[in-house]
Amino acid sequence: KVSWNGKRVTVAGLGVSGIPAARVLHGLGAVVTVVNDGDDERSRAQAAALETDGITVRLGDGATLPEGTELIVTTPGWRPDKPLFAAAAEAGVPVWGDVELAWRLRGPDAAPWLAVTGTNGKTTTVRMLASILEAAGLRTAAVGNIGVSLLDAVLGDETYDVFAVELSSYQLHWAPSLRAHSAVVLNLAPDHLDWHGSMEAYAADKGRIYEGNTVACVYNVADKATEDLVREADVEEGCRAVGFTLGTPGPSQLGVVEGILVDRAFVENRQKQAQELAEVADVNPPAPHNIANALAAAALARAFGVEPKAVRDGLRAFRPDPHRIELVEEVEGVTYVDDSKATNTHAAEASLAAYDPIVWIAGGLAKGATFDELVQKSAKRLRGVVLIGADRALVREALARHAPEVPVVDLDRTDTGAMSAAVQEAAGLARPGDTVLLAPACASMDMFANYNKRGEAFADAVRALAATGRA
Ligand code: ADP
Repeated sequence: KVSWNGKRVTVAGLGVSGIPAARVLHGLGAVVTVVNDGDDERSRAQAAALETDGITVRLGDGATLPEGTELIVTTPGWRPDKPLFAAAAEAGVPVWGDVELAWRLRGPDAAPWLAVTGTNGKTTTVRMLASILEAAGLRTAAVGNIGVSLLDAVLGDETYDVFAVELSSYQLHWAPSLRAHSAVVLNLAPDHLDWHGSMEAYAADKGRIYEGNTVACVYNVADKATEDLVREADVEEGCRAVGFTLGTPGPSQLGVVEGILVDRAFVENRQKQAQELAEVADVNPPAPHNIANALAAAALARAFGVEPKAVRDGLRAFRPDPHRIELVEEVEGVTYVDDSKATNTHAAEASLAAYDPIVWIAGGLAKGATFDELVQKSAKRLRGVVLIGADRALVREALARHAPEVPVVDLDRTDTGAMSAAVQEAAGLARPGDTVLLAPACASMDMFANYNKRGEAFADAVRALAATGRA
């Protein structure tokens, strides 16, 4: 147990996770200083509010370690190569993220954690898991990198039986003592490498989620890197490795047999080979990558002892969050699907695999990605492509290399109105039975505030198109 009274804690960064952390620590009796690189109007207003409560804020200098710091609590925006952390290492000062703080304050006592990470599918899987746990009658919440902070969840007044926790690689990086009941790494593809420094460092941070698991380490049979992480993890005695696969499951795996999700890992009746859980049609939407998410969620729920029927009921009750392969409308026989959340190539690959033929709307900020593999894998299903956004040339060049016969409309625009033009161009390319798919494979910030706004612009444009059709 940490004695907080008078402990000198430095919080790295204001913002959605820094401010609540500072307040919690101050409330515990710690002497809190918040340091922040920026010194703009917004941070000055935030600082003023904290200072009235007796918290010190230092704006415009996030590099020097405040005198006497005993602990740093950091926020996700701060890269590990920042000078503040070098100074901390030199001075022997520990660094915790918000997850570590929540865990140390009350993590294990509040409720067991079923934890989810991976490059793509985290939010979907956590929501499916929460839905299954609810169907089982358990008091639960979807928390973490998903809206409800872990600090709020563990320190709040509500009582929980179990948490469905989404963890980002950033959070895992700074959460050395976290010990989940069971956890999954859904998949591993290059992303956020600027933050982590390398693919190896990124994978190692994701792998932290398995450390100290007590019941099950769940991995993706189709993604060997996730299985390797399980093998390298130091777990509690008796903790099992459990795989999920879209094919026929082996022993200790969950998988799919003739359209049925089956469990061969947690079979209660020893006579039985496999336990039926749900039908593929119970998964919403029943696209391959999403069936994988459902199997991962089912594996964690089963590890926690949930009955098969609750898995089925929970999956049926689950509704996807907006902008994740969301059906917008059908206009003149063409289906319009919003997957604005496909902000990297690995995510876009999943939704491009789910439809055929496709008119693909792509482009935005590439974040250092290359598009050759994505285009190669999807080329056969493309009716046409409409490109928008800052880095669209990278996608166009990959298309020229691997799909020269596919018609491409390069809008050469980065203004917000470009989305409506893109939808009209896509409608022109599409034939009845086709899907127009917004799966940009890029971040949105060149044109929009975030992926939500991008998805809304797409949906608005589709509805306007439908309205003109009806008029
Ligand atoms: P995250 O929280 O990891 O960003 P989401 O559940 O919000 O994941 O899904 C983000 C996007 O990733 C979706 O819109 C979809 O395109 C894609 N996706 C979802 N699940 C998977 C998966 N298992 N594998 C690959 N891509 C996926």
